[in-house]
Amino acid sequence: MNIILLAPPAAGKGTQSLKIVSKYGLTHISTGDLLRESLKRHDELSDQIREVMNRGALVSDEIILRLIEDVMSSTEHGIIFDGFPRNLNQAKKYEELLTKLGQSIDLVLYLEISKEEAEKRIVGRRTCSNCGKVYNTMIEREKPLHEETCDVCETALTHREDDNVSVFRLRYETYMNETEPLIHFYEEKGLLKRIDASLESEEVFHSIVEVMDSLI
Ligand code: AMP
Repeated sequence: MNIILLAPPAAGKGTQSLKIVSKYGLTHISTGDLLRESLKRHDELSDQIREVMNRGALVSDEIILRLIEDVMSSTEHGIIFDGFPRNLNQAKKYEELLTKLGQSIDLVLYLEISKEEAEKRIVGRRTCSNCGKVYNTMIEREKPLHEETCDVCETALTHREDDNVSVFRLRYETYMNETEPLIHFYEEKGLLKRIDASLESEEVFHSIVEVMDSLI
């Protein structure tokens, strides 16, 4: 099963991907995570990528599509993409790639959340650099048990460089201009399912399970 998670920034793509992976055993590919990983190299390309990410814009399609081709050539069928495709060109190129491989998209989950709710979530977001679990220090039910440490694996939590209000607003604008048109694109193909992502994360996951189980 090939799934795409489509959502504005801070709607919970990362959290829901982890839950989906642990229930359905798909391979989770987050282009944001792959890019953040590449920033550790500190070369010319990573400097360019950092600059683009820190102004809330999209990294070039050329770089992203190269990453995707690498990942798909080394991964079995059954991927959940989180943060890809991010514009119409990427969506069309992804379709071409799947066609070449004799595969198709089974489902696009659109996590719906208002800009106000997303902005509230972004400032407190912390991520475990080891297991990927996401916390929020501003939301009571999502706080870690011990400040700045993962409840699951006790690794120090990290704060993403681009998680601040000013970069969030730029990322949201980029989302509205570039990514939002994909809603219509996938709706027309009959692949899009809307999920209310303003709810508590377990409730959001429950809605996702309902949709996924109806397809299996
Ligand atoms: P995310 O972790 O999905 O919120 O992505 C963080 C940042 O990485 C985005 O704001 C973009 O700068 C960049 N990025 C992630 N995925 C893509 C993509 N598919 N195309 C272009 N840029 C991306």
